Amino acid sequence: MVKKIALEEHFISPGLIDYWRPTMTEVPAPVTAQLFKQLSDFGESRLESMDRAGIVKAALSISGPGVQAERDGATATRKAAEANDFLAGQIQKKPDRYAGFAHIAVQQPKAAADELERCVRDLKFCGAMINGHTHGQYLDDQALYPFWERAEALGATVYIHPTDPVSPAPVLDGVPALRRATWEWGFETGSHALRLVFSGLFDRFPKAKLALGHMGETLPYLLWRFDSRAKLYNVKLAKPPSQYIKDNIVVTVSGVFAAEPLRCAVDALGRDRVMFAADYPFEDAVEAGHWMDSAAIEESLRADVAYNNAQKFFGL
Ligand code: MN
Repeated sequence: MVKKIALEEHFISPGLIDYWRPTMTEVPAPVTAQLFKQLSDFGESRLESMDRAGIVKAALSISGPGVQAERDGATATRKAAEANDFLAGQIQKKPDRYAGFAHIAVQQPKAAADELERCVRDLKFCGAMINGHTHGQYLDDQALYPFWERAEALGATVYIHPTDPVSPAPVLDGVPALRRATWEWGFETGSHALRLVFSGLFDRFPKAKLALGHMGETLPYLLWRFDSRAKLYNVKLAKPPSQYIKDNIVVTVSGVFAAEPLRCAVDALGRDRVMFAADYPFEDAVEAGHWMDSAAIEESLRADVAYNNAQKFFGL
């Protein structure tokens, strides 16, 4: 079994349960109950699953949407800080096994920058995870430049996690099985990342670092097309879009445990830009770990994706 760092492993803190529950309305009650138990546990069951998967360290993040569903900015800022303190307390009990991503309320950009700095400097978190848009505001919004400025200065990675779109696309009407993680979230989250690229955010903040799950939300597969169409539409960027995706974005394999897209992501972005994640408890960490151990790739690449890349990139 190859040793692994897992980068998209979720938990829930007491103050954020009420934001999470509404996302589970279509899931059978016993499944929700089981997920809640797993999200709330930092002891035996989580560690046992990690051990069986060969995960030596898990970077924990809130199970969304968290405070991004909060309408009141001050409440969101306060609850995000509480969640970060809660996570820091859990990490302190098992510092060799757990790391953390900050939960950030972007409703108040200056406070968001300050909280990111507190989490990275004082709580030693390895970046922030933001659950997509916040009431329709995406991360390329100019109001959030102070947040990006600070993230860049801190060298803190911002991981965009999927969320539901502002309004569901009509093409998915009547086919509920295509909503959310099947297809809808990939388009929503890939589009979010492309907004950052096409808006010129990475020209303004060239050292800003972004992470995407789910093998890059299809972006690695489409680099050529982005460049070709950017030329046609005369997009004003210093570099072709694909170059920002290679330079500013890293991806994890969360929820896509297949060798073909892994090889595509590695070929498209570089062998140091793809990292392991299970997406616990929404995916089976043991299955993810077993796949990582047995995927048809060469051994040095396996070790890099499973452990070395995350260790270097996030300083874990
Ligand atoms: Mn996830």
